[in-house]
Amino acid sequence: MDARFFIDLFFPAECAACGTRITHGALCEGCRMDVIPHRTAFCGTCAAPLPGMRSICHPRALYVLGAAGDYGNPILRALIHALKFERMKAAAGTLGDILAHYCARLPVDLKGFSVVPVPISKERRRERGFNQTELIAARVAGFFGLPLERNALIRVIHRDPQSDIEDPAARYRNVQGCYATVLRPGERTGRAPGKILLIDDVTTSGATFREASATLRAAGTRKILALAAAKSM
Ligand SMILES: [Zn+2]
Ligand SMILES: [Zn+2]
Repeated sequence: MDARFFIDLFFPAECAACGTRITHGALCEGCRMDVIPHRTAFCGTCAAPLPGMRSICHPRALYVLGAAGDYGNPILRALIHALKFERMKAAAGTLGDILAHYCARLPVDLKGFSVVPVPISKERRRERGFNQTELIAARVAGFFGLPLERNALIRVIHRDPQSDIEDPAARYRNVQGCYATVLRPGERTGRAPGKILLIDDVTTSGATFREASATLRAAGTRKILALAAAKSM
């Protein structure tokens, strides 16, 4: 038996950021230390930091934004890239851990919250094999012991990925009308949980969170903390 066999046996994966052999997760210890987490939440309308969670600038924002780190951080970017484009499922667990630890430090009482992933279309799921935000959401739900509501929000229209579009106005148009809540028999509008941790991998223009939050609020949700592993604005 050669040395390579043992390396593969005991170190089955590579760090998504630097390629070092690792035994579990998606990052080596060194790279994990290089993720620089944010310390505050942000305004859902203008993305200004909200120390102490007080929404001073836009009290009517549809949601409070939480982002664990910045998309400019090379480690976070490598993790998200590995998850979305190289189908590295272990990256979802690591991103979920980073997001949960960030969220745990925010001054917010999570009692009564449900965890809801931003849904993807059937077509996209078929193409990728899984919904990456659902995997991140599962880890966050497990960390806090909160219910994971996979189908509280569904995606009813399939369009080009947001990452293919640069213009913010076009990004808004691209997600408009894409989400819905499920109707039970006899209902004219769907009912969504009252308090939601809405999970996405990355937020750029905020178009996805805004459209998803508007849909949930129309179905009765009163409080939304929209959490992304990284934000790029
Ligand atoms: Zn590494
Ligand atoms: Zn604001």
